Amino acid sequence: MRLDGHIESVSGDKVTVQLDQTPDPLRLRQLAHGKQPSVSVDVEDGRHISPDQRKKTWAMIRDYADYTGYSPIEMEQWLKAYFMADTGAEYFSLSDTSMENAVAFLTYVIDFGFAHAIPWRTQTLDAIPSDYPLMMQCLKHRICIICGKRAEIDHEPPIGRGYDREHIDNRRFKFFPLCHAHHMVRHTKGIEWFMSFYHIKPVKLDDDTIISLKLNSRKQLNEFDKEASDEQTH
Ligand SMILES: [Zn+2]
Repeated sequence: MRLDGHIESVSGDKVTVQLDQTPDPLRLRQLAHGKQPSVSVDVEDGRHISPDQRKKTWAMIRDYADYTGYSPIEMEQWLKAYFMADTGAEYFSLSDTSMENAVAFLTYVIDFGFAHAIPWRTQTLDAIPSDYPLMMQCLKHRICIICGKRAEIDHEPPIGRGYDREHIDNRRFKFFPLCHAHHMVRHTKGIEWFMSFYHIKPVKLDDDTIISLKLNSRKQLNEFDKEASDEQTH
């Protein structure tokens, strides 16, 4: 049940809301099951979805539709249904939803694409907002950060030949996910050129992320720590 209105006054932790319509007391009692009904008050910031957000969201939906065979309109309905089921959001329209909900939905749509390994067009990857944690998702799902193709996780600095890859402390490296073609570009052009041309930087990962990406196991990290402390004491 949703009650719309305006905040009249705020005094400490007490908020008075003037409702647009008188709520039905019987319906309220039914919902409360004999307890004190609980509510959450959503404060709208008054801003609505921007044309840019709408464009980006529809670009994703179109790509997913191409891949799944649904029409874009069907795909939009599916994604909204999943979003509403997962978040409890109410039905909304992409023409006039709040900016806050637009951001939440776009993030959800991007996550959905990664989770279901839906192939991206390069333009779509470019359209992902810069505040979205794209690098982590691309690492997790082994997707090239530049073109969206299948990727390997590249070390920076590169691991030289002759090193046992199984016995490397990955906390000492930075990483980015690159497909074979972009991996080759990086090696022929060099890392400095590569970073400034594509505007990307490899990232350092914390222990938990290194483990979740299966770069090292917890046991290995502990062994590296032990080796390091043994060396210090000798
Ligand atoms: Zn690539």
